Amino acid sequence: MSGSSKRVLVVGGGVIGAACSHELAKSGFEVTVIDKGAWGSGCSHGNCGFICPSHVLPLTEPGTVKKTLLSMLKGNSPFSIRPRLDPRLWKWLWRFARRCRHDLMLQAARDRAPLLERSLSAYREMVEEGILECEWQERGILFLYQSEKLLDKFNQTARLLKDEFQLRSERVEGDQLQAMEPTLKPGLAGGWYFPDDVHVRPDRLMSSWRVQLEKQGVHVRENCEFGQLVRERDRVVAVVAGGEEFDVDELVIATGALTPLLARQLGCRLPIQPGKGYSITMPRPQPCPTMPLVFVQHKVAASPMVSGYRLGSMMEFNGYDSRIKPRRLQLLREAAEQYLEEPYSEPIEEEWYGWRPMTSDGVPFIDRLPGLENAWVAAGHNMLGVSMAPATGQLIAQLLGGQDAGIDPAPYRIARA
Ligand SMILES: Cc1cc2nc3c(=O)[nH]c(=O)nc-3n(C[C@H](O)[C@H](O)[C@H](O)COP(=O)(O)OP(=O)(O)OC[C@H]3O[C@@H](n4cnc5c(N)ncnc54)[C@H](O)[C@@H]3O)c2cc1C
Repeated sequence: MSGSSKRVLVVGGGVIGAACSHELAKSGFEVTVIDKGAWGSGCSHGNCGFICPSHVLPLTEPGTVKKTLLSMLKGNSPFSIRPRLDPRLWKWLWRFARRCRHDLMLQAARDRAPLLERSLSAYREMVEEGILECEWQERGILFLYQSEKLLDKFNQTARLLKDEFQLRSERVEGDQLQAMEPTLKPGLAGGWYFPDDVHVRPDRLMSSWRVQLEKQGVHVRENCEFGQLVRERDRVVAVVAGGEEFDVDELVIATGALTPLLARQLGCRLPIQPGKGYSITMPRPQPCPTMPLVFVQHKVAASPMVSGYRLGSMMEFNGYDSRIKPRRLQLLREAAEQYLEEPYSEPIEEEWYGWRPMTSDGVPFIDRLPGLENAWVAAGHNMLGVSMAPATGQLIAQLLGGQDAGIDPAPYRIARA
């Protein structure tokens, strides 16, 4: 087995750290994964759980900046940026704005596609083998429109998704919507249905993955914060974390949106911004939607899980702000009210926020850290960390000398930033 008996420390017990640990253990590495808090308690906890190749296009569509600014002026936008003097945020936004071109958007989508496609099939295998129990549901995703004009405009996008990425979709006219999804209110313009997307319950995914990792012999250490590296020339030989020293042959940093906070220790600051989103979780309303829904004009998603129901959305660029703002949660409810007969239920089980690890081109960093021969990063999965995790793990295992997964690492290099 290649790499056998080499010790790897994975920093970050989110969905990306889980997938990296899984693939590394499969490749014969001896893996320890540490998290500064509880396993799976970061952004991987309360997200919507969509595994969705349909979202292959990044946010950097032509016209995004203008549309976002206009909607922010209206005051009910899911987007918000707190104006402040943070040169890194402005640089990030400038880079984002420059990427809002058709050719660059398409390039980023081509870079995201292999991670999305491979991850979906890897998840399916793990679920079929009984490795992951995560409320897996193959129901597709329905994008809903109030505006006829925007519904029509999506014809072009659907064609692009079919031609470029072989993604199947089907237009549903307004008068056919209730036959397809009886919980919807009448009067919507229509929708686009993507039959091949899947959804899961993210916290179940994380707890089940932990059980599997422990069966594979992976050591999971909670409340163990990464402190510093012990280096010998350009190699990391140990990591000090949680007051202990871990000897390592390889190191993988999978700390999501918090990765830039490790810049001093790693000698490299990755241009990742925390894009804060919110969700509210409750029992399934009666009646409950039969499939995941995206309220396109409000940018809010409804996720009907087997054991609950979640509304999620919002994108705030406010640094590492950890307040839960009631107004943002209210916007989730108000959006759902416009589309669903029973938009929510009581009691609310959880009000949650998470920092998405946002890169300006929508593509993650999966690469060796500059100046360090045996330290790697897998971070910056934007709005799709759940959807891209297994393939990210496969690529990390490949880069560290495990099995060749046949994934081209070039698009995910740090040097592009
Ligand atoms: C509202 C919302 C809805 C979303 N919906 C979806 C969806 O439907 N589908 C999808 O694919 N994606 C979705 N996402 C995005 C997805 O949640 C993220 O892309 C993904 O969770 C990122 O995973 P991660 O492992 O990189 O980060 P995290 O889950 O945040 O994990 C990083 C871990 O590193 C740990 N850590 C950080 N610093 C240190 C340190 N110094 N020492 C030790 N440990 C450390 C943290 O404690 C954390 O547990 C959504 C996000 C939000 C906010």
